[in-house]
Amino acid sequence: MTNFSEAKEEVKKAADIVEVIGQYVDLKKRGQNYIGLCPFHSERSPSFTVNQSKQIYHCFGCGRGGDVFTFWMEYHNLDFSQSLKDLAERYNIPLPQKRDLYADRKKVELKEQLFKITDLAARYFHSILLKSPNGKAGRDYFSRRHISQETIAQFRLGYALNKWDGLLHYLRSKNCSLDRAAKAGLLVPKGSEEYYDRFRGRIIFPIFDLNRHCIGFGGRILDDSLPKYINTPETPIYHKGYSLYGLDSAFEDIRKRDLAIIVEGYMDMLVLRQHGISNVVASLGTALTSDQIRRLKGYTKNVIVLFDPDDAGRRAALKSFPLFLNEGISAKVAVLPQGEDPDSFVNKHGSDTFKKLLKRAAPIFDFYLDQTLANMGHGIDGQIKALSEVLPVFMDLGQGPTRFLYVHRFAEKSGINEAIIWEELRHHSNTSHLKSRFSETQNTRKYGSDLQFFNLLLHYPENIDTFKDKEWELIVSDPEIIAIIKVIMEKFPSEGNLDRIEEFLDSPVEKEQLRVSLMSQPFYSEESVSQAVSEFEKKIAKVKVSQSIRKASAEGDMEMVNRLIRKKQDLDSR
Ligand SMILES: [Zn+2]
Repeated sequence: MTNFSEAKEEVKKAADIVEVIGQYVDLKKRGQNYIGLCPFHSERSPSFTVNQSKQIYHCFGCGRGGDVFTFWMEYHNLDFSQSLKDLAERYNIPLPQKRDLYADRKKVELKEQLFKITDLAARYFHSILLKSPNGKAGRDYFSRRHISQETIAQFRLGYALNKWDGLLHYLRSKNCSLDRAAKAGLLVPKGSEEYYDRFRGRIIFPIFDLNRHCIGFGGRILDDSLPKYINTPETPIYHKGYSLYGLDSAFEDIRKRDLAIIVEGYMDMLVLRQHGISNVVASLGTALTSDQIRRLKGYTKNVIVLFDPDDAGRRAALKSFPLFLNEGISAKVAVLPQGEDPDSFVNKHGSDTFKKLLKRAAPIFDFYLDQTLANMGHGIDGQIKALSEVLPVFMDLGQGPTRFLYVHRFAEKSGINEAIIWEELRHHSNTSHLKSRFSETQNTRKYGSDLQFFNLLLHYPENIDTFKDKEWELIVSDPEIIAIIKVIMEKFPSEGNLDRIEEFLDSPVEKEQLRVSLMSQPFYSEESVSQAVSEFEKKIAKVKVSQSIRKASAEGDMEMVNRLIRKKQDLDSR
């Protein structure tokens, strides 16, 4: 392999875009394309489209799209070189060693260094837990919580000594850059060039990304002191609210069972896994974010959320309701008996009872309604408050059976006459002037004939040469399409195909237009192509004649005008 563009082309050939994206987005075949729910914006009906023959994807909702590399970069939040490296590794494509060509080389190197350090740290914490005499507190904790040796090994659990320089000494002995270790969130800088351990006297839960790189850590204190948990801060490799604990080892089962169970804590997840419930992830202590929900969306659209039965748990459930709604995920809520968390519950009652509890999980909307009504209190006052609280939610549901059923349910539960709710909804929709941002797509604004010509060139590129020197600009009026065709005319002769045209375009609008048109059906059948070509040629000729007529008449050359008019009639009659 001599250079990067060759390697890139190799990877593109090997890494089928439907296969790659299909690992993260549930894709269904629809005509010549595959469609699914967009992982990059909130949507309930799929507008995310993947085209296998062109090896591109495009979301008709948010406009994002590109090739397999663009997807990898956006989905995993990586830069190009890292994406090339990841995909090349997956598909066994050797890469050239020198990466000087890339400006983001430094960033990639930094991330690689950080991965190395987090991996070292995970090993260190793990070996302290297993072997160090001072790790007894950690071992005692896990045995008290019934965590097995297998679980400890599988999740690489660890223990941080209650010292300011435990990890610090270890990293120094391994010749690690302490500055890098601080960048990875493991050490805290103290004055100039001095550091101390961030995690001290804590149980350690390493957090992994989908490629099984250790990206960060959670640390739980053993006594009652505060804070109970600390996590890796925001670093170049760890982004709060983005990862789900355990997703790297759960996503296959989540897809297989078409159900994800979300718990709050590390221990909840570990204990459930130990009881054979494999499709479970933890939200890492924070309230669920839409990024986290979107991560799951590629594997399943069915989620059961387990919240602790305390106030904080209830509030978290209420907060997550609109997030699920926006992502088109049908979420249910399982509420544990008072005083229990998933960990204690499953240890006490076993996994069968736990599964029964899951079966009884209520749709999150019911949970939401019950909680809202309970919070608003009784009487007319409470009813009015509850109604004004849920109206915007009903509006969000859009027209259709879902809203109908929920309005009915709300009427039942609240005792408010259903007719009144519908009346209020009508009133609300009349006063709201919000229009869907996407109701008017790019294409409807373009001129039909521009698109026809463009479509012809894209689907039958062998005709590009015919128009190259024919003043085709005369029959295209849209500046974006003109810009794209210019690039195509310039690059196609040497490229021989249209695969890389998007790379030569500067503006995102042009890139998007190109993808949309590449994905559209050909307007012309094989048989009608040559006729279409000659019609476009004729059109160009006619525009040219009309221009000449205007010029000649402006100059007063009536003889010329007459000759040109005859020529135009001649063209029309052909
Ligand atoms: Zn989208």
